[in-house]
Amino acid sequence: MPRPSERQLRDELIKFSHLTYERHLLVAMDGNLSVRLSDDLILCTQAGCHKGLLTDDQIVVIDMSGTKVRGKGEPTSEMAMHLACYRRRDDIEAVVHAHPPTCIAFTVAGVSMARCVLPEVVLTLGSIPTLQYETTGTHSLADLVGGAMEMNDGVMMDRHGAVCVGSSLLDAFCKLETMEHTAKIMRDARGLGGLQELPADEAVKLRSMGLKRYGGPPDAVAMADEPGADLPDVCLGCSGCGHPTEEGIGPRVAFSMARLTNTSVLPQTQSQLEREVRKAIAEHLT
Ligand SMILES: [Zn+2]
Repeated sequence: MPRPSERQLRDELIKFSHLTYERHLLVAMDGNLSVRLSDDLILCTQAGCHKGLLTDDQIVVIDMSGTKVRGKGEPTSEMAMHLACYRRRDDIEAVVHAHPPTCIAFTVAGVSMARCVLPEVVLTLGSIPTLQYETTGTHSLADLVGGAMEMNDGVMMDRHGAVCVGSSLLDAFCKLETMEHTAKIMRDARGLGGLQELPADEAVKLRSMGLKRYGGPPDAVAMADEPGADLPDVCLGCSGCGHPTEEGIGPRVAFSMARLTNTSVLPQTQSQLEREVRKAIAEHLT
């Protein structure tokens, strides 16, 4: 499908910037939005502007290295995060970063959102990981977010905010809105006595259906028919657990999934986990 014209993309950028503010997904100068103008140019919101009041002259054109090509003002340092997403996946046309308050509260409280609770969310987003804390505007944060987008369309950054990607600004914005809506429902359910998760087999069935019907990260779509689809083992263990802990995690083990889902540092499979546990016991006994 051909890309919309620059005029149309600018109008969309303004509309969705205003919506992020009006829907209480950010305040003050928070957040930033961007959209691909061509294969190597990006339209993005200027540094230090209010998203609820964004005007056309606060939109900057940058290249894929982050250098300004035209427009007033400067692109924000957080644009490195957006570029890391675009570079990792050709199918990403838009990136929306905001500070949805309920989602952020989950990360501050150390409560995981990576749980399969609402069918619609499992269909469209799968599980929502929270990335480990990194200083805002740094390359390490950009790398972390870019890497996470290989298998996700929406992630939370610890104590900071959400990054959502999509095939258009509308698509990315919908994911952001869904994340905050989900966080509110999860918070209220906890207040009403606790979260009842979907059974693990139902979560997998939904996720597999969702990847085929609505798409997602290409690497995740390729896993649609694999056991567990693209859902992390830890999420499945969690979904199958009838006794979630306060942190939203199944049985307490040697690592905390309350906040971190940097799976590179976690055992990837059940057998690996068993090996790790056996090793830890053996070390303890010697
Ligand atoms: Zn931010």
